Amino acid sequence: MKNSLSLFLIIVVSIFTFNFCDKQNFEHAVESIKVDEIKNKIEILSSDEFLGRAPASLGEERTIKYLEEQFRRIGLNPGNGNSYFQEVPLFEIASHSWSKLNISNKKTSKSFGFIDDFVCGTSRFVENISIKNSELIFVGYGIVAPEYNWNDYKGIDVKGKTVVVVVNDPGFVNGDSTFFNGKKMTYYGRWTYKFEEAARQGAKSVLIIHDDDAAGYPWGVVQNSWSGRRFYIETPDNNMSDCEMNGWISNSVANELFNMAGFDFGKELSSAAKTDFKAKNMKLSLSVSFKNKIEKKKSNNVIAALPGSEFKDEYLIYSAHWDHFGVNNTLVGDTILNGAIDNATGTAALLELAEAYKSLDRPQKRSIIFLAVTCEEFGLLGSEYYAKNPIYPLNKTIAAINMDGLNIFGKTKDITIIGYGMSEADQFAEEVTRKYGRYIIPESQPEKGTYFRSDHFNYAKVGLPVIYFGSGIDNIEHGKDWTIEQTNKWTRENYHKPSDEFKLDLWKFDGMIEDVKIFFETGYNLCNTKSFPNWKVGTPYKTIRDSMMK
Ligand SMILES: [Zn+2]
Repeated sequence: MKNSLSLFLIIVVSIFTFNFCDKQNFEHAVESIKVDEIKNKIEILSSDEFLGRAPASLGEERTIKYLEEQFRRIGLNPGNGNSYFQEVPLFEIASHSWSKLNISNKKTSKSFGFIDDFVCGTSRFVENISIKNSELIFVGYGIVAPEYNWNDYKGIDVKGKTVVVVVNDPGFVNGDSTFFNGKKMTYYGRWTYKFEEAARQGAKSVLIIHDDDAAGYPWGVVQNSWSGRRFYIETPDNNMSDCEMNGWISNSVANELFNMAGFDFGKELSSAAKTDFKAKNMKLSLSVSFKNKIEKKKSNNVIAALPGSEFKDEYLIYSAHWDHFGVNNTLVGDTILNGAIDNATGTAALLELAEAYKSLDRPQKRSIIFLAVTCEEFGLLGSEYYAKNPIYPLNKTIAAINMDGLNIFGKTKDITIIGYGMSEADQFAEEVTRKYGRYIIPESQPEKGTYFRSDHFNYAKVGLPVIYFGSGIDNIEHGKDWTIEQTNKWTRENYHKPSDEFKLDLWKFDGMIEDVKIFFETGYNLCNTKSFPNWKVGTPYKTIRDSMMK
């Protein structure tokens, strides 16, 4: 009797001390995420030394070397065999010598200038593009979506022709939440989809009609992203199945084209959102030509692994893109786009998280992959490459947590999950957020299609449940309106500009640190949980996940 009692006591005491030590060990790791450390890493990554971290440049060499050194110093294993790198084979296309965009019909012809009126490029690896007298067909939103019983290409043959397309999806103007996703943009609304669908339909070229509200950004953003070099992942067919030319026209140019066609622009736009919409031949023809300088390039995803203690062959991914736009010599004054917030902050957090996990005496149960991806700014290419060439089996990967641009405005009561409610992984974030007395909100402007604009989207596309955290807006000191105003001001003045720089005196790090702790604990719980969370019913990614988990 006495013996069994003491045995019982020993067990109780040891469970207690064990749990206590475990908890202390865990708290210690959380507390190791410190303002000064993350500050220091952001400052280094966004310094001029790194030349704006452009893929396939000296800036890349310096950046990936730094990341490799850091992962090594922290004590993480190489994530790709004995290497910290996953090479991403790319093509760089720099288009130049654009002709005017000529539009004509039997009566008249008009020509429009590159940059001011239109932009265009190609993803085909060919040096000369010349399109002559291609017929224009207005295909409304250019969407084929069986689940919404919608087909803008129904009854019209666009092979060899140029399609004119409205950006976003019909739900945007309609506003009815049961129609597409209401105001919330579906992937059908994204410009990348417009180009993909037009190619599937066999169109020769595409012109997207720009609109500030529907696109979610001003014409200037379109101009910037189509005037420099562009990257594409190397493909066996050299992208010859893509359209010959992908372009955008400004809203006022679109208006002129519709006038030339004898159409009422406003009326046509609203008819495009109606269920009885039918594509229309505009009886106009288009001619344009330009040249392309094509070079094979290589860039790198940086990848490090931290083995788990129990489910070693199962994985959690933390992901952040290391790249930004590099140096733009056409700018006057400061020419380096340092990308301090976008995304030195997320990359610094990745390192900070790696350090915190490494400091655990008893490691988390699943293994963790720290993935710093390239070419996010040029079409989410590094994450696409990883998703299509995963080093760790996707059906053994529980989820991916993405970080892209952290909070610099101070502590908030809330934290954003972009695409909140789509996957069961959100519950892990909810639990942790609640523990800190905070709450989760969905992205505030889903009509901007934020969900399709960072790396997590590529992981979602191959079925991985994802959590993409964003900053909160319920600022403890200043409230919501102030934060929204500050965020919009920041986007207007600094987004993708040389002024996205490290500003020690202006930034607040306390909110950022609290967010990173939530990233840590959410990931930790995902590493230790028994069963894999899935996508929720009704999301397009659930079927993909289900079929790989069979
Ligand atoms: Zn970014």
